[in-house]
Amino acid sequence: MNIPKEIQIVIEKLEKSGFEAYIVGGCVRDFLLEKKPNDWDVTTNAGAEEVQKIFPESFYNNKFGTVTVINKNAKDKSLRNIEITTYRIDIGYSDKRHPDEVKFTPSLEEDLARRDFTVNAMAMKIENRKLKVESYKVIDLFGGQEDLKNKIIKAVGDPDKRFGEDALRMLRAIRFAVQLDFEIEKTTFESINKNSALLKFVSQERIRDELEKIILSNKPSEGIELLRKSGLLKYIIPELELGVGVSQNRHHIYTIYEHCILSLKHCPSKKLETRLASLMHDIAKPQTKAGVGQDSTFYNHDFVGARFSKRILKRLKFPGKIVDKVSLLVKNHMFYYNVDEVSEAGVRRIIKRVGKENLKDLMDLRIADRLGSGVPKAKPYKLRHLEYLIEKVGKDPISPKMLKIDGQDIIKILDIKPSPKIGAILKVLLAEVIEDPKNNTKKYLEKRVGELNKLSEKEIAKSEKVIKEKKEEEDLKNKKKFWVK
Ligand code: ATP
Ligand code: MG
Repeated sequence: MNIPKEIQIVIEKLEKSGFEAYIVGGCVRDFLLEKKPNDWDVTTNAGAEEVQKIFPESFYNNKFGTVTVINKNAKDKSLRNIEITTYRIDIGYSDKRHPDEVKFTPSLEEDLARRDFTVNAMAMKIENRKLKVESYKVIDLFGGQEDLKNKIIKAVGDPDKRFGEDALRMLRAIRFAVQLDFEIEKTTFESINKNSALLKFVSQERIRDELEKIILSNKPSEGIELLRKSGLLKYIIPELELGVGVSQNRHHIYTIYEHCILSLKHCPSKKLETRLASLMHDIAKPQTKAGVGQDSTFYNHDFVGARFSKRILKRLKFPGKIVDKVSLLVKNHMFYYNVDEVSEAGVRRIIKRVGKENLKDLMDLRIADRLGSGVPKAKPYKLRHLEYLIEKVGKDPISPKMLKIDGQDIIKILDIKPSPKIGAILKVLLAEVIEDPKNNTKKYLEKRVGELNKLSEKEIAKSEKVIKEKKEEEDLKNKKKFWVK
């Protein structure tokens, strides 16, 4: 791997104008690990105005004191915007999250010392490029290279002081540990333990961004467990801690909390929503537990859990789309399916309830749930059979739009004015077609419209209810199977 040409050019232009310039921070860490950095940051002793003069194609961000050089044509996305920041120090952190003041400094050493971890506090550049005897110059004042080699996350300077300045750094330590598969150095970890309550001062948005990275890493369950051991979890998702040490029933070998993190560990999906749902699908079990020992039950933990996960994710300021999706998955994670017991109509009702676009994720959640219970096979015959049936009934009508007649047709057939009765009739027709798609013909539906029209609106609603009750029967079987001894 090499430092990309675009970055070299930026550094050389700054040097030609008489300034110092280095790549710095996360990109140096990733480069030395031979990993592709997310983005390349350059640091310099030139002030923002001077940088802008050197790079006409750039813009200045006042809030961060950063000049972004634009490379529209770079093939690699990570090179289209290169951020150049003047050496700086942060002064005073009276609110434990923002420096009271940012001061520029002529000293690279001071800039590196303000950074969070030794592996993030290095700067480097290529020397002698023109002479074709290229060598890397690494400025490493805090033993970052040694810690990289030993896979260690260690605070720069006194950890108590550094976490006191910006409490988010504690969460970042865990994020880097799971992203890089590193260990947190002992004194640094003890300091997190001691200072965990400071996380209260950090905004939910900043916490969310780090949590998201932990969940999407290759070791998400280890991340949650580190959060718990370090004392941070109770300031992020205290609801998860309520499941610690709480046993379940004869169907489970793990405690609630263990099962939550194991489900996350085994989630086959890389999607944030599905992973969050895996972690939180049983979040309401502690509150819904009834009975004792092997005979305990957790009635309605899926519905209550859907509400809890909504509340938690809203609190963490996740986007509405993610909140709704996770909540939907949690709510439906108990869907019942047994070969020969659930009809094709039952499968169509599952599809109608959760939506076609959510089926894959719901299936992944079920696999996570199973594997997290210590069940050896991810996808038993049962689930494979359900997938086959979903495929088979996939084109069957499950929404009013898919019926062969619509409200306008009914108005014509009955020669009546628009009224709620029409909606009620359509609901019955849909329920009958979900029962048996062969019913979806103009002829049959028109005949039924005539018959239903003879009933009162109340009676029509009742016939729909009769069909719906079948669905509830299936849910009941589910409850019997999983919740009652
Ligand atoms: P990523 O790969 O996720 O981008 P990164 O290490 O580049 O990881 P950034 O958040 O992009 O992390 O920050 C860039 C650099 O700025 C870090 O490597 C670190 O040197 C410094 N930094 C960022 N946030 C903090 C902080 N809260 N406290 C101290 N230094 C920080
Ligand atoms: Mg970065």
